[in-house]
Amino acid sequence: MQIHRLPALSDNYIFLLHDPIRHIAAVVDPAEANPVLQQLQTLQADLVAIFNTHHHGDHVGGNATLLKHFPNAIVHGGVEDRGRIPGQKVFLQAGDRVTFGDRVAEVLFVPGHTRAHIAYYFPPVETNEGDLFCGDTLFAGGCGRLFEGTPTQMIDSLGKLRSLPDQTRVWCAHEYTLKNLQFALSVDPQNQALQRRFAQVQAMRQQSEATIPSWLGEEKQTNPFLRWDQPNLQSRVKSADPVQTFARLRGMKDQF
Ligand code: ZN
Ligand code: FE
Repeated sequence: MQIHRLPALSDNYIFLLHDPIRHIAAVVDPAEANPVLQQLQTLQADLVAIFNTHHHGDHVGGNATLLKHFPNAIVHGGVEDRGRIPGQKVFLQAGDRVTFGDRVAEVLFVPGHTRAHIAYYFPPVETNEGDLFCGDTLFAGGCGRLFEGTPTQMIDSLGKLRSLPDQTRVWCAHEYTLKNLQFALSVDPQNQALQRRFAQVQAMRQQSEATIPSWLGEEKQTNPFLRWDQPNLQSRVKSADPVQTFARLRGMKDQF
């Protein structure tokens, strides 16, 4: 399975999964149709599936047009998103599996950004590297805003993602990394792994390079929204409670 990262809208990424042997493709969170249609044309691949993580317009905006061109493509989304995702045919819940070519992804229920949000995790096969498509739940250096969920839900969802192996590529849906790391450094200034990462990301963004995917292992070391149990972050927000630590960090980021 090859993964193509397609920039869309102002700061979204669409991920196109390609199986060159079967000449098929699937797409994760098509914000818009045109970049996907162009890439499918280049690859000469047939779109067989759309995998949506949640119902927001910058994740499902391309569904209808893609279905016009590829009426057999099957739209997947969370069961709680019933009625909110254009063309949805498959209603997924935690533990379900979806297939693409010879690959199987596990569905994780990760509410918080929205109440219905899911993620797709492809465990490693030939290499020891897995792939996680997490929409707007976990970002490189940050996490999604809590539009429909509580801090308790979000910490539980991020905890599920944090329990995956370090050698997992994090394919999140937005290029927010630099801004996220600026916030991260403001709350975790002594973190040397974070300082190094910030310098790398700054250099990459100066060259307009994409910072996605990141490695989950790196997120665990540098992303404050996976580090609610770190004493230095807890004392920074004056709490010893993980949920409260997370909630306060999220509140500070909202104002940042
Ligand atoms: Zn969203
Ligand atoms: Fe989004």
